Amino acid sequence: MTDCIFCKIIKGEIPSERVYEGKTLIAIRDINPMKPTHVLFMPRDHVKDVLGLASWDHAPAFQAELNQAIAEVVAVEGIENSGFSLITNCGSDGGQTVFHLHFHLMGGSPIEWAKLAQ
Ligand code: 5GP
Ligand code: ZN
Repeated sequence: MTDCIFCKIIKGEIPSERVYEGKTLIAIRDINPMKPTHVLFMPRDHVKDVLGLASWDHAPAFQAELNQAIAEVVAVEGIENSGFSLITNCGSDGGQTVFHLHFHLMGGSPIEWAKLAQ
């Protein structure tokens, strides 16, 4: 997609700090981190949101690589023992602002899950 900010990041047209580069996905640091570690995992192909995975031929390969990428980044960030949250927002109630699928990995300080219950 030509007007998608994450497609531009993937193509290198917009700079980002990459922490993982794989066959089907990349991971970058969020420009506005909410936690000491705040990394976004996104497929190289333009998939709109998590619901798009159901009809995407390469979803199984992406999800398998995502498992490995998460484990690798968590180890490099040193948060495998302290823990983290992995979140994907979908649609307006989900608070999605960039409509290219991404998973937020957030850790390095406690996440108050209960604060989401508003
Ligand atoms: P969403 O609200 O869609 O779940 O998350 C979008 C995330 O993308 C936000 O946390 C926002 O800070 C991040 N973001 C938006 N634009 C950029 C950018 O140009 N570079 C990087 N690294 N992150 C971005
Ligand atoms: Zn895109």
